[in-house]
Amino acid sequence: MNKRYKRTKKRKLNRRRVGLVFIIIILIITACIYNSVKPKEQTAETIAYSGPTKINKCIVIDAGHGGEEEPGCIFGNVLEKNIDLQIAKKLQEKLSQEYTQVIMTRTEDVNVYLNERARIANRNNADIFVSIHQNALEDDTVTNGIETWYNPEKDTVSKILAENIQENVISATDAEDLGTKESTGLIVITKTEMASCLIETGFLSSTKERQKLVTDTYQDKIVEGIYNGIKAYFEEIESPNDNTNTIAGNNV
Ligand SMILES: [Zn+2]
Repeated sequence: MNKRYKRTKKRKLNRRRVGLVFIIIILIITACIYNSVKPKEQTAETIAYSGPTKINKCIVIDAGHGGEEEPGCIFGNVLEKNIDLQIAKKLQEKLSQEYTQVIMTRTEDVNVYLNERARIANRNNADIFVSIHQNALEDDTVTNGIETWYNPEKDTVSKILAENIQENVISATDAEDLGTKESTGLIVITKTEMASCLIETGFLSSTKERQKLVTDTYQDKIVEGIYNGIKAYFEEIESPNDNTNTIAGNNV
């Protein structure tokens, strides 16, 4: 074995070692990449925590009035804009647990123009629009109850929405039932391009009803009723057994 032959053999051995190390490194890298990209197996635990699937609907809640210039009706220290917003926020919280998108036209004490309220709903391609207000009468501290307004000329589904909400709010609150009412002059329920209604959840001019309307307990009952009404509305218009309503729903 001469010197030259020895050197060549040594070089060959070194090359083999380098090659082996290189292959091992490649294998390690491949294993790491595979582990990082392979989908994680879904354990029973992750399934249990995934929560219920929300219903794919967009609901716009409109708290009436707002800001210094638009307080709505005022009785003592009770301002309509505040009651409207309190109820709207509670409703948003409850609906958000069930539906994918619940949008408020205002969340603070600010004035939003009526046309803009309708535009918010139209821009978001909402399924329904519900406006919340309080009623009042001059020189009358007795008249009380709940009524829901809709525009009969706009579509055929707003009436169904108004009726479902009115019926469920009355059963949740036990308030005087003033029924559903028609109007073609209310901007928010006219300019919105989907099923819409405006609910007057009580009379601030009524001493008795005003005292109830400022409480969380009574507001929760109103919210429960509107929530149930919305649920009943979707069930009614999407019922496969009722072709008339399904067609009406598509026309909105
Ligand atoms: Zn109002």
